[in-house]
Amino acid sequence: MRLLMKFGGTSVGDGERMKHVAEIVSSSHREGNELAVVVSGMSGVTDQLINMATEIASGIKKPTIDPFIASLWERHSKALEVAAPDYVTSVSPTLHNRLESLKNIFNAVYNLRELTSRSKDYIISFGERLSAPILSAAFRQCGLNTILLDGCEAGIVTTPNHGDALALPISEHRIKKKIIPLLSSSVPVIMGYMGCTDQGIVTTLGRSGSDYSATIVGAAIDADEIWIWTDVNGVMTADPRLITNARELPFISYLEAMELSFFGAKVLHSRSLEPAMKKDIPIRVKNTFNPSYPGTVVFREEKVDQRIVKAITIIEKVALVNINGVQMIGRPGVAKTIFSALANRDVNIMMISQGSSEANISLIIEETHLDKALDALSSVLTYGFVREITSNKDIVAIAVVGAGMAGSPGIAGRIFTALGKAGINIIMISQGSSEVNVSFVVKTSDGKRAVQVLHDEFRLSEVTNA
Ligand code: ADP
Ligand code: MG
Repeated sequence: MRLLMKFGGTSVGDGERMKHVAEIVSSSHREGNELAVVVSGMSGVTDQLINMATEIASGIKKPTIDPFIASLWERHSKALEVAAPDYVTSVSPTLHNRLESLKNIFNAVYNLRELTSRSKDYIISFGERLSAPILSAAFRQCGLNTILLDGCEAGIVTTPNHGDALALPISEHRIKKKIIPLLSSSVPVIMGYMGCTDQGIVTTLGRSGSDYSATIVGAAIDADEIWIWTDVNGVMTADPRLITNARELPFISYLEAMELSFFGAKVLHSRSLEPAMKKDIPIRVKNTFNPSYPGTVVFREEKVDQRIVKAITIIEKVALVNINGVQMIGRPGVAKTIFSALANRDVNIMMISQGSSEANISLIIEETHLDKALDALSSVLTYGFVREITSNKDIVAIAVVGAGMAGSPGIAGRIFTALGKAGINIIMISQGSSEVNVSFVVKTSDGKRAVQVLHDEFRLSEVTNA
């Protein structure tokens, strides 16, 4: 089989874990599989880089650049010693040089007090620039021949929107040309999360972008399967950190996985489903700490079991915006004016609900977009057909996900009855057209309990059908 394997941050969190990953990869290679690997930065490093860059640019605090660089050196060189003892001398200079460049960039950011989105992308790509040489040395330590590539060298060409770039169609051809010839004699190790524009400027692919790198590359090389290795046994019925009796799902469809990740399930990046889906390549989510467990297969089929409700997910950091005004009744184009005002400011609308009297439109947006959304909407207020705009950050959105929900009216009834019985007040229900989810909004303090109530109501911790 030809496989693309992606290892997330916790899977390469220290030297022991990298060694373990090298064993997984080399044993799969010995079985005769052709393999390409995508790797994330060591757990937590990307966030540290973002925080450090922001702090330095603000210029408020005296920069702690040197100790920060020293701590990165400490962590990465230690991992190298453990994972690839025979390669310490040959790989250390690479780590050292990369950290020197990073230090120089940080100093430049501090002196200029300016952090452009372009320099920020370059800075945060260092998580992978540091982890990948170590992992590739760990592979060599296990006897594998490897070739190390950054996202750009691997052929990922993206749009220029920094921090949230999208792969362009030309990537497919470039990746194919670059990677496929390497597979017969080596295991290419590709730095996740990053690509570059056609001009070679480094871009990053958004939160959890390494999942997206994995499916872009996996699809381009026509992998038989894409394996996302993480720290849980697969896609689960709910976030296991929140719901202790959450259970892993053996199968889930692309669309279900997309809805789950869109509504906050961190295990897969929602955008990452698309490249695999286009080519019908199954994605397998597996646990590095439990490699013999089969994991979850994400594929096209939607009705592999009788269950309609498969999983419940919660998204925190969101805000509700209410647009009220009787003047809206019967006026064509009002919604359009509102939505284009928001679109012009790049506000992502996650959920919409319109009261039947048309006197009210409610929107759920990312919390970080609230200020610009309110700013954009203040211009709409001046047109006179909107009376009032209010907002609320003390809310969470919850989605109940499963194929065929729209065709089963009884399900929505069960959801809202169960929540009512538990005394949970529903602030908004989305009238989304998706066939695979029912989503609603509750107060933050009710969030976890709402997920648990529904997890119990649909008996998701049991293997039998509810
Ligand atoms: P990685 O570093 O491997 O990319 P992530 O932290 O991005 O790992 O994703 C894995 C985490 O996603 C799990 O540890 C789990 O806490 C969280 N998670 C949230 N919702 C779910 C879910 N429905 N199923 C599985 N994991 C979930
Ligand atoms: Mg992830």
